[in-house]
Amino acid sequence: MAKNIQAIRGMHDVLPEQSARWQFVEQHIRDVLGVYGYKEIRLPIVERTELFKRSIGEVTDIVEKEMYTFDDRNGDSLTLRPEGTAGCVRACIEHGLLHNQTHRLWYFGQMFRYERPQKGRYRQFVQLGVETYGMADADIDAELIILSHRLWQRLGISGSVELQLNSLGTLEERAGYREQLVDYFSAHSEQLDEDSQRRLLSNPLRILDTKNPEMQALVEAAPKLMEFLGAESKAHFKGLTDRLDALGISYTVNKRLVRGLDYYSKTVFEWVTTELGAQGTICAGGRYDSLIEQLGGKPGHAVGFAMGMERILALLENRQDLGDSQTVDAYMILVGESAQRAGIILAEQIRDSVPGLKLQMHCGAGSFKSQFKKADKSGARYALILAEDEVSNDTISIKFLRTDEEQRTVSSAQLIELLQD
Ligand code: ATP
Ligand code: MG
Repeated sequence: MAKNIQAIRGMHDVLPEQSARWQFVEQHIRDVLGVYGYKEIRLPIVERTELFKRSIGEVTDIVEKEMYTFDDRNGDSLTLRPEGTAGCVRACIEHGLLHNQTHRLWYFGQMFRYERPQKGRYRQFVQLGVETYGMADADIDAELIILSHRLWQRLGISGSVELQLNSLGTLEERAGYREQLVDYFSAHSEQLDEDSQRRLLSNPLRILDTKNPEMQALVEAAPKLMEFLGAESKAHFKGLTDRLDALGISYTVNKRLVRGLDYYSKTVFEWVTTELGAQGTICAGGRYDSLIEQLGGKPGHAVGFAMGMERILALLENRQDLGDSQTVDAYMILVGESAQRAGIILAEQIRDSVPGLKLQMHCGAGSFKSQFKKADKSGARYALILAEDEVSNDTISIKFLRTDEEQRTVSSAQLIELLQD
């Protein structure tokens, strides 16, 4: 026998019994985004490699070691998107959406990163991305956080997540800070791991983002970027925290929060949970005004976030009450060839007349007993039974699978009436 071909490591199937949960979460997300006036944008999965190098930054984990990059047949270097923001900005510039306009956008999509697969960390995973353009003030930064907060409430996980905030200031403010940071880390260079040694010159801020537990104390004691911010950056940050305070959304200021990508300025934030072990960040984002220019657009404003869908799903794992929105309402049992022929027509009539009803018709012959078992297992409330008697009398029997109500034999018109209630 031929050997089975299996899925690629770190890339997972979502099986039918799990997809109802995905739909539950996706539906709430769509609802909440609609409530705030956000519109969907759909973007390609593959982009030019250059786009990610220029936006995410050459000296980041993603670009250094996590991208799925390959040459197209004509020699162009292409990459499976590791995140959505770069493609979104690329599209908005390309289609002229960033001139004197404001936009509130969202997308769902598969992202690809060559990471070590573990719980909550995969090589293909799904993000919800939310991106806004053309708004400079802190009110839009606040809106994004308020919106995600409402989503946690809807999903019933607001008790499991905590908000962390920081401000990265402007590029200039970071330049001054960078010098101090290099001095500090150079003075303790013997404590730096290999990655951090390398970053000391290329991208010292990224050292703050290290996940190496042995470096935590060193990083904890490092100079804080917050102390290098100018008046405008400080006022912007206060504009954000004032609004969150006014709405009673609690947060902690995490002065070490720098995020793993290069393009942020001013606001950065993460929603984290302690319930998922090391992979605790379920949603992360911030302001990335400078990325628009970096990708060839006119100076502009941008704030957004990305949410890791698998991690949200993992948080909801223990919720039994989500129900299965895919369970059918009725299961049609067809015994005998004439019933099979008549049933396919009757099923269509029912679907025409009762559009909301989920009706599954048995396909393939089988004894009444075996079909009835399937009807019961389907979770349907009704079994609709068509056997020889019913066909010759032009009737159908309905059996109530979840209540004591007695089985009845009725005309198809009566059945439709009954199902419409
Ligand atoms: P981490 O610090 O966990 O590696 P990150 O900073 O690389 O995250 P972002 O690029 O900001 O993550 O992506 C936003 C969100 O997408 C993360 O907070 C997380 O929820 C999710 N995410 C990122 N990488 C993965 C992955 N490999 N598998 C599953 N989810 C992921
Ligand atoms: Mg990462």
